[in-house]
Amino acid sequence: MDIKDLVKYAKEAMQNSYSPYSKYKVGTALICKNGKVYTGCNVENHGIMSICAERVAFTKAISEGEKEFDFIVICGGYDINNLEECLPCGYCRQFISEFVSSDFKIYTVDNKENIKEYKIKDLLPYSFKI
Ligand code: ZN
Repeated sequence: MDIKDLVKYAKEAMQNSYSPYSKYKVGTALICKNGKVYTGCNVENHGIMSICAERVAFTKAISEGEKEFDFIVICGGYDINNLEECLPCGYCRQFISEFVSSDFKIYTVDNKENIKEYKIKDLLPYSFKI
């Protein structure tokens, strides 16, 4: 499965976003090394209990027993027809780093369908580790 297929999944997930407060919708598609795909969307809540689309996809996958991840695609914006490049927040960078190698790739998509590639080690070079 290539990145463009994953972009489609991420956009579909973005449509399920529950974001009445920020109005900012995010969808993700996480592909595992075995080829399975887990999607996620941001789910907001009163106070500080919101969860980002990246952590939703990872927790769905991990709760199903997945342990090896290939890459993740992130779509975000106020309007699904006008995507903005959306990078993981600090919480998600730390969270993701727990489960992947330092070369794990993160792809973003903008409103012209340009895809950019990042590595977790570049987004979070000094992750917290015990
Ligand atoms: Zn986040």
